Amino acid sequence: MLTETIAIPAAAPGTAHHLTVQRFGRAGARPCVYIQAALHADEIPGMICAQALRRELLAIEAAGHLQGEVVLVPVANPLGLGQQVLGQPVGRFALGDGGNFNRDFPDLCVSLSRIGENLADAPQHNLAIIREGLAAALSEVPALTPAQHLKKTLMGIALGCDVVLDLHCDAEAAMHLYTHTASAEIFAPLAALLGARAILLAEVSGGDPFDEALSRPWFDLARAFPGQPVPFGCHSVTVELRGQRDVGHETATADAAAILAFLRHLGVIAGALPTLPPALCSATALEASEPLIAPFAGILVYRREVGEDVGAGDVVAEIVDPLTGETTPVAAASGGVFYARSALRFAVPGSRLGKIAGTRMTRSGRLLSP
Ligand SMILES: [Zn+2]
Repeated sequence: MLTETIAIPAAAPGTAHHLTVQRFGRAGARPCVYIQAALHADEIPGMICAQALRRELLAIEAAGHLQGEVVLVPVANPLGLGQQVLGQPVGRFALGDGGNFNRDFPDLCVSLSRIGENLADAPQHNLAIIREGLAAALSEVPALTPAQHLKKTLMGIALGCDVVLDLHCDAEAAMHLYTHTASAEIFAPLAALLGARAILLAEVSGGDPFDEALSRPWFDLARAFPGQPVPFGCHSVTVELRGQRDVGHETATADAAAILAFLRHLGVIAGALPTLPPALCSATALEASEPLIAPFAGILVYRREVGEDVGAGDVVAEIVDPLTGETTPVAAASGGVFYARSALRFAVPGSRLGKIAGTRMTRSGRLLSP
């Protein structure tokens, strides 16, 4: 394992932040897989999973079984990890400007016409040309704040990798994945191995999260230049490792084993191909994911557990008026898997109470949670 330390320019003199990057296998070996944890810094299930991954990868590397390269960033957001307000961690948003650490990654699609000029009738040539072009485009993206530097640095490390896993979690949730529509097939084995209960697909989610910023340029290039062989050079996925409090050695070890089995499936690790368990869900469109919204304030009581199938019209939660006791049911508009819900138990008007992986709704615009 090679450890690299990268300085993130700080906001003030006398302060410093660093990213630690751990590399396994021969530099430049393919396939290359990038894995980062806790970009939302208060989402710890990915961070403990990374410990199990490091332990296993060290053994696999020592045994000479690593055919590709694995790049691990076990703490992807040291800025957010240091943030607290009145004793509570704040890892999702930068306190300086309120920006979400997993939104507004540099949009490299703006550089596609320039890259497209150099495409030829050779997929491997195009792969190299596009990677070079995207790296050049990223180098030109301005970065002023520490969060902008962090995003640009993370993207620069992951940009040249074939497969990217961004480990997150929701507040309270069943295992679920977000990925580009064109990457659904690639990540179906990972979803089965992890026991995912939902796979949410979108071409454009509207928020420029890390996974999409890496994968979308390849899809858009292929669509913009249909006469040229444009490979999909970076398949990227956001893995939601259940809920924020689902932190334990047993689940971390099991999740890491599933990820390592996926790496065997990809040929990154030598050995027999893993037996894929039956999938627990089919992929559904992110446009059809139903956000349950609180109509007014009150005590929040859930009637259904995450991971359960709900039908259209089923009561998923209740809001109790604390002054009168009046109870208002919150019902699902569409059937599907109730895959995530809030960790809070008092709702305020407009707050998201949960999400259902449905198939009938058609949303548009910004499809992800704020
Ligand atoms: Zn997250």
